[in-house]
Order: sequence, then C-alpha cells, then structure tokens
Amino acid sequence: MTQKILVLPGDGIGPEITAQASRILAACQAHGLDVEVEEALVGGSAYDAHGEPLPAETLEKARAARAILLGAVGGPKWDKLEDLAKRPEKGLLGLRKNLGLFANLRPAITYPQLAEASSLKPELVAGLDIMIVRELTGGIYFGQPRGIEERNGERVGFNTYVYSESEIERIGRVAFEMASKRGRKLCSVDKANVLEVTILWREVMERLAPEYPDVELSHMYVDNAAMQLVRAPKQFDVMVTGNMFGDILSDAAAMLTGSIGMLPSASLNESGQGMYEPCHGSAPDIAGKGIANPLATILSVAMMLRYSLDAPALAQRIEDAVGKVLDDGLRTADIASEGTRIVSTAEMGDAVLAAFEAL
Ligand code: NAD
Repeated sequence: MTQKILVLPGDGIGPEITAQASRILAACQAHGLDVEVEEALVGGSAYDAHGEPLPAETLEKARAARAILLGAVGGPKWDKLEDLAKRPEKGLLGLRKNLGLFANLRPAITYPQLAEASSLKPELVAGLDIMIVRELTGGIYFGQPRGIEERNGERVGFNTYVYSESEIERIGRVAFEMASKRGRKLCSVDKANVLEVTILWREVMERLAPEYPDVELSHMYVDNAAMQLVRAPKQFDVMVTGNMFGDILSDAAAMLTGSIGMLPSASLNESGQGMYEPCHGSAPDIAGKGIANPLATILSVAMMLRYSLDAPALAQRIEDAVGKVLDDGLRTADIASEGTRIVSTAEMGDAVLAAFEAL
C-alpha cells in the first residue's frame, strides 16, 4: 500500500536542507519505495501565510501521513510575537502532542572521518554510536500541578515529576526493542536514590527485562551518566530515560560528535508513525546562503525508512552514501577541516545522491 509522507520545510535553513533530503527520498522512490510525498507549512512560515504556526490543513495532512520530515522552525522574525501560542515552536509542540509522539530517538554517532571535530580526544569518540531513547510527552515538563504562587508571604515555584507505570512501560519497550536490534545493551538512567518516581521507573524496567533475555539491562544515576558520557562514552549502546534527563543527556551526547549538522532524530507514537528531523535549529545566521549542512536531514530520511517505512536496506544505503562522501573529503563549512573540500548545501546533496546511485 502506498504510504504518505509529509515534508514540512519550516523556517530559516529548513527549506534548503529539506530540498536536498527530498531529492534522496525521490531516489528511493525510483528504487521501489512506495510513497506519496506532499509538502505543507509549519512554524513561522505558516504563521506568515495563515496566522497560525500549525494550520488545520497541516495537522490534517500530518495525521494522514505515515511519516513527517521536518526541517526546522523559528527565527528572529517571530521572536517578538506577544501571543506565545502563535510562536513557531508551538507548531512543533502541537504536532508532537496531536500525534502522541512519546518516544524520542536521538542517535549520537561520530563518523571516524569527523572524530577530530569533537571536543573530546578522537580516540574516545571515534566510532561512537549511542542511541538515547527519551520519553517525550510526560514527566516533569507536563506534570500537574505546576505554577508560581504566593505562600507565606513569598512566591514559590513548583512542578510535578510524575510517570504512570503504563507510560514507563511503553517507552521501556521501545528501548528494549531498539537494544535487541543493536548492541543488546540497555542502560536505564534515573535518580532512584532520591526520587520516588524514578524508583517506579527502575522497577518497571526490571519487570520488562525477562521479556528481552537477549538484552543486558543496567541502571545508572543521572549524575553518573552525565560523567560517564564525557569520560568513556563508548561504553553505551542504548540509553533510556525520562523527558528532562533525556533532554539534557541527549544534547550532551550530541556535542560529543562535534557537529550538530550531522545528527538526525525521530519521534514515534505507538503505531510507529513518526516525525523525523535534524537535531539542530533553523540557523537563521546562515539561512539563504546555501552553506547549511543537509546531512542531518538526509540522515533523518534514513531513520524514517528504518523506523516508519520498514525499508532498512534503503536506510543503510543512504547512511553508506553519506559515509562515502565524507571519505571522499567533501565537507560543508561547519564540518570542514584541513585537507577537505568545502562544498555548498546543493553540492553536498548532489554528492550524496551520486554515491547513493553508485552503491
Ligand atoms: P541552531 O541549531 O539553529 O544554530 C546553532 C548554530 O549552529 C548556528 O551557528 C548555526 O549556524 C549552526 N548550525 C545549525 N544547523 C546547521 C547546519 N545544518 N549547517 C551548518 N550550521 C548549522 O540553534 P539556535 O541558533 O539556538 O536557534 C535558531 C532558531 O532555531 C531559534 O529560533 C530556535 O528557536 C530554533 N530552533 C528550532 C529547533 C527545531 O525546529 N527543532 C530546534 C532548536 C532551535
């Protein structure tokens, strides 16, 4: 059955990088991927055209799509919008909420060719391949009650860190399954020495473990996990954690790789429908210059093929094509180093496409 894909270019460099990713998607179609691709507006560009960062038409198309490829949203043009509900990022949050995208997959991969770009010693990060599975729709970012109120003559701010067993179980299953398809090691990150909610988190992970006998489950407190990520990151295969810890640890892990322009991400719901996007933002400082790195977005297409479209061979082919282009010494400006050739966004797209076809 033909599956629908929705491309949401968004703002800033979004249209430039999704244009290159769409070319790869078209090449996959030519190699038998049975999909129908449409585009829609989201973020600031949607606000400019329709007065809403997530127009009803976009949401409807998103609901009907098996997978969404998003560029990035936001930029200084919309930073002064007084009505917070109209800000570009509300477009993103609205998509996550409406589609129930509870599982955020954040790979941190260091290509050996780019190991020098990391702030850590190359030998610590060369060949790094971690997958952080972050719970995205619960935890302290959404827990009630929350607020700032007057108590005993002073203002008090408060939030609630809450997870139900079912919420923990569904993210746990995503992580166990991910680990069983990768290096079979799962590290669950919590703060069970202090927080009851993460005592429950740990219990549920332990309860799931016998169902995945091929996966070795371990537990780590979040403070230690942060230390271990910068001390010896290659000890990790898959990490699973709640929304807030995952937010912080996935950004730290991203920086181990040295380049934000290389990192894809996925957010999935229970039916495997997903939104795929680069980890970086809309980079307004370089928008329109034709120099943005399209590889994170192209690699997001690979994740889409693997996790929503069940086309792992094409996914691998895209990843191999990216590896080949890096081997050939082609770099956009953000990942350039001595002895490499700097290319534009479109030239990088051309090169990946050529390598994809040659494989
Ligand atoms: P950013 O990721 O857009 O940019 C940070 C730095 O990295 C900039 O110097 C930028 O030029 C560079 N950079 C980012 N992506 C690049 C790429 N593909 N190629 C080359 N260089 C790249 O983060 P920011 O500057 O903090 O935010 C800019 C805007 O993006 C803001 O409006 C922010 O709200 C938005 N944002 C959106 C998302 C999203 O859509 N998911 C995520 C983060 C930030």
